[in-house]
Amino acid sequence: MFELNDRVAIVTGSGSKKGIGRTIALALADQGAAVVVADLNLEGIEDTVNAITEAGGRAIGVELNVTNKESVDAMVEKVLAEYGRIDILVNNAGISQKVTVQDMTLEDMTRVFNVNMFGLFLCSQAVLETMKNQKFGRIISLSSVSAKRGGGVFGGAHYSASKAAVLGFSKNLAREVAVDGITVNCVAPGLVNTEIWKSLPEADAKNVIASIPMGRPGEVKEIASTIAFLASEEASYITGEEIDINGGSHM
Ligand code: NAD
Repeated sequence: MFELNDRVAIVTGSGSKKGIGRTIALALADQGAAVVVADLNLEGIEDTVNAITEAGGRAIGVELNVTNKESVDAMVEKVLAEYGRIDILVNNAGISQKVTVQDMTLEDMTRVFNVNMFGLFLCSQAVLETMKNQKFGRIISLSSVSAKRGGGVFGGAHYSASKAAVLGFSKNLAREVAVDGITVNCVAPGLVNTEIWKSLPEADAKNVIASIPMGRPGEVKEIASTIAFLASEEASYITGEEIDINGGSHM
């Protein structure tokens, strides 16, 4: 696919067994990158690291809470001690909640923004100095189709707003660091075939499928391969961009 030999990649939220982050971590390792599996979920971290090493790849696990600056800084320190560089940051950790605006509390709003936006800010900021010194970096963040057309059966307005904030933040950062050899891009998946999709009642699932021109949810591999491309040398002139991966559900 896209060669990433000698690259060091951090993937936040890559400890979810059936999640997108784990597949991203596996895909980057498969292309030759040393991968840092960073998550709150210790068991999940171990599981992803084992999957990578069993497949012949290189990986370490780091416990991370993206909302906590000390935790983020400690992760960066550990990665630099282990590998001496950081080439790729994938801001994948994210949370959602199904709630209407009428029922939403300020705590709900704060919790979602803390992870999806402020956590992404802390992680992105923490790798900038290293990437600037290297004159190379790739920051790739997970937005969502719901940033542009509102959420559906899964997320609330706080989720859509946080994922829209990710787009604006990334474009601004892309302008700031373009001169330093760092690209900053987003992917915006539509509905992906993860646990949350399987939990949908059949009637809701039918309605969702009917709204997707391709007639199916996305597969985690389809998100991971786009991220591997954006992380690669081949994507060197793409920055401040956002790639929709949604089977045509928003064009
Ligand atoms: P998931 O819940 O399976 O995985 C998210 C991971 O993030 C979990 O391992 C969790 O432990 C970790 N996490 C949560 N809070 C954290 C914190 N404070 N610090 C560190 N790690 C934390 O989710 P997923 O479905 O794989 O989604 C991954 C990303 O893709 C999210 O940003 C999500 O918003 C986005 N996305 C998902 C879909 C979808 O259909 N699944 C669609 C569009 C966008």
